[in-house]
Amino acid sequence: MSELSIVMLGAPGAGKGTQAVRIAEAHGIPHISTGEMLRSAIAAGSELGQKAKEIVESGALVPDELIVEVIRERLSQPDASGGFVLDGFPRTIGQVEALDLLLVELARPLEVVLELELEQETAVERMLGRAAEQGRADDTPEVIKNRFEVYRRQTEPLSNYYRSKGILVVIDSSPSMDEVFAEIERVLDGVA
Ligand code: ADP
Repeated sequence: MSELSIVMLGAPGAGKGTQAVRIAEAHGIPHISTGEMLRSAIAAGSELGQKAKEIVESGALVPDELIVEVIRERLSQPDASGGFVLDGFPRTIGQVEALDLLLVELARPLEVVLELELEQETAVERMLGRAAEQGRADDTPEVIKNRFEVYRRQTEPLSNYYRSKGILVVIDSSPSMDEVFAEIERVLDGVA
């Protein structure tokens, strides 16, 4: 099997998590979602969870050092040695730099960065629908607004970095989940 190391980028509600799960299944690689890891740490009341709770629930970002340590540990697990889909990390330039160093250490360069593009209005509708189903504490209109601001300021600049490295592919996330996934698979066929 071809090894794939993938980063998913995109604004809140763009569908990163949904597509990352499908990519992971299709390619037999782990789906690594920092948002999910933080939510389960919060639910478990671990030290990480206690540090992260208020920050996550306000829509801000937890400090780079904290999340980089979580990722360092996760990527060192044996199941990540044949590739992975990163969902929600990196989110700041500092995290990009830390990831670059980590991937050099692990001798595991990124094959592709997939950026899912979706109009904010559609993304908000999708998130409010999800809130009704899952009751995520950060899917309220107020916090969603803050998450978009944080995204614009801290995460959006990352696409230029990966574009300049020649590994960014932008995907239109407005069609159905199946159509978006089919497009992603076409891209990944070209990469592998
Ligand atoms: P979404 O992409 O829908 O905004 P996530 O599930 O990826 O949601 O993340 C939820 C929250 O978890 C973020 O708003 C942030 O508070 C925290 N978080 C997740 N990943 C990171 C990260 N890489 N750095 C800092 N905070 C993070």
